[in-house]
Amino acid sequence: MDIVPHFFAYCNDLLVFSIDMEIQEDEKFMREAIREAEAAALEDEVPVGAVLVCRGRIIAKGHNMTERLTDATAHAEMITITAATQALGGKYLNECTLYVTVEPCPMCAGALNWSQLGRLVYGAEDPKRGCTLFSPNLLHPKTQVTKGILAQECSQIVTEYFRKKRM
Ligand SMILES: [Zn+2]
Repeated sequence: MDIVPHFFAYCNDLLVFSIDMEIQEDEKFMREAIREAEAAALEDEVPVGAVLVCRGRIIAKGHNMTERLTDATAHAEMITITAATQALGGKYLNECTLYVTVEPCPMCAGALNWSQLGRLVYGAEDPKRGCTLFSPNLLHPKTQVTKGILAQECSQIVTEYFRKKRM
């Protein structure tokens, strides 16, 4: 019996399994970020939420607080970076993953660059003010990026927020 094809089929199954696991985990943490975005909406803030995960555990959460803090820089990512580095006692986040419901703006991408973030996962794209509109890449060269996780839900919260605002 030729075991080689079986071996490759087995490896392929393992690969598919681990990719499935990663997507499941990404969705789980993105749901937590969405919960933060919903908290922002209740406070009449533009609903963007973020969580920072280190070794499978959420170490910091945050949402947009520009109104409450009357600070145009108080984006979900900035709040979360500050909370995370205080929790970790170090300024670098190279072993962490940031989940954020909307693509970071150039300011936040710059801040994530300074923190040497390990991995960025975002939901909805921001075609008007997203950091991917800019070239060269504003993120740290070592930051891995995954986009589109629960994108529909992430953008719907923002759309809904602005629809209610106009009423
Ligand atoms: Zn930002």
